Amino acid sequence: MLEKRSFYINGSWVDPKEQKDIEVINPATEKVCAVISSGSKADVNDAVLAAKEAFKSWGYSTKEDRIALLETFYTLYKKRWNDITDAIIQEMGAPKDFASKLQTGTGASHTKSFIRYLKEFEFEKPLGDHAKNQRLLYEPKGVCALITPWNWPMNQICLKVIPALASGCTMILKPSELAPLSAMVLAELIAEAKFPKGVFNLVNGDGETTGDALTSHPDVNMISFTGSTRAGALISQNAAKDFKRVSLELGGKGANIIFKDADKDAVERGALRCFRNSGQSCNAPTRMLVEKSIYDEAIERLKKYANEFKVDDPNKEGEHIGPVISDTQFNKIQSLIKKGIDEGAKLVAGGPGKPDGLSNGYYVKPTVFADVNNNMEIARTEIFGPVLSVIPFESEEEAIEIANDTDYGLTNYIQSQDPEKVKRLARKLRSGMVDVNGAGIAVDAPFGGFKHSGIGREAGKEGLLEFLEVKSVGGWN
Ligand code: NAD
Repeated sequence: MLEKRSFYINGSWVDPKEQKDIEVINPATEKVCAVISSGSKADVNDAVLAAKEAFKSWGYSTKEDRIALLETFYTLYKKRWNDITDAIIQEMGAPKDFASKLQTGTGASHTKSFIRYLKEFEFEKPLGDHAKNQRLLYEPKGVCALITPWNWPMNQICLKVIPALASGCTMILKPSELAPLSAMVLAELIAEAKFPKGVFNLVNGDGETTGDALTSHPDVNMISFTGSTRAGALISQNAAKDFKRVSLELGGKGANIIFKDADKDAVERGALRCFRNSGQSCNAPTRMLVEKSIYDEAIERLKKYANEFKVDDPNKEGEHIGPVISDTQFNKIQSLIKKGIDEGAKLVAGGPGKPDGLSNGYYVKPTVFADVNNNMEIARTEIFGPVLSVIPFESEEEAIEIANDTDYGLTNYIQSQDPEKVKRLARKLRSGMVDVNGAGIAVDAPFGGFKHSGIGREAGKEGLLEFLEVKSVGGWN
């Protein structure tokens, strides 16, 4: 068992002020794999003070200095690739190949992309040719509280820590208490890259105590949060008291609209995108809307696909899915599967209980419900497990109406070979992202949602701008 009780504050690994342990459970074994500390108000105060002091110089550091440090960090990240991957496998159960290529991989791609945008970014520029003495200065927002979830741990952390560093902000990272181990490897990389002390601080802990202390701290200027809509609302209330800047990446209930002219792989590709990462992705297409004329065939294909879909030990190589994160999450998914059955949806694959041969670990059967009505709970609640709800539709207008009839608005998907229809739909879907025919959303495209899916955008240039305030100066000659 790993002992990871220290916090990284002001350039050193320090003991918590009050000893309060949190056990980290490996979801594949249900056993404790590490112990961390839960940060108290006093620990949070120390970290915020360190970040506040460090901002006095880091906030005015040169872009060249920041690029050099981030490039060193990126080199070290690649060297420690396997350590990051191993931590992710243990803490959240992502299978080996997936953890390496996608979980650790996206952290690297975001880092590389932010370095490129930092190199291009003009921190000072004229308002325009018509007003040459009007200058725009882009300045770091200040001390940032960065709070991340467990489902894509390194991806989410890099989407916040790297642009915060690139813009000249200082920060306190509080990773998810369920998956804090990869974050601690990242803190080691920051130390090794020799960022000035206090620029980056890490305090572990839960949301109720540590997260709340951070988001209500008067010296925190900005909060960047990824997680549940529930916590996003609480954090926004804390932020409102002193007008902290808030960026929120929350949940989703994406619709994947499959028209009769979709390509031959569209149905299986949609199911894969729903089941991948054991269904624990905010942008997963969890509602599959299928045109009536191909509906029966699609259900047969989904039944076969889900029944053959592999669930297995994350330590094995291959394209299977692993367990879900926790006992709580397992039970939540089971009760929603039961709810789907009770509400009258037709269970065509998977269902309650664990897959055969996997009685130990929080494994869930890839599950498909047909004949779902968009008012059922399984169509409205973010299940965060490998559970697909299939809804039939007859017309383009009906598909748009069902897709938009949700509190969320993160990613919607369209499958059709008709480019004009695709463009019509892409314009009408109320979501921050629309993915057409499996093209994917680029690593540096703005990532974020409409409605309850959040506020603000991460990744690429927009992700860098989230950490900057713009100042207008008149009379700049
Ligand atoms: P969660 O909200 O319970 O926890 C996320 C983080 O917030 C953790 O670090 C937790 O300790 C902290 N937290 C919880 N309550 C808090 C509070 N009151 N104050 C401050 N911090 C608090 O969510 P989770 O279960 O860890 O993650 C799953 C959720 O995250 C899903 O709803 C998912 O859709 C969402 N998510 C969204 C995106 C996105 O980019 N839109 C990405 C990943 C996950």
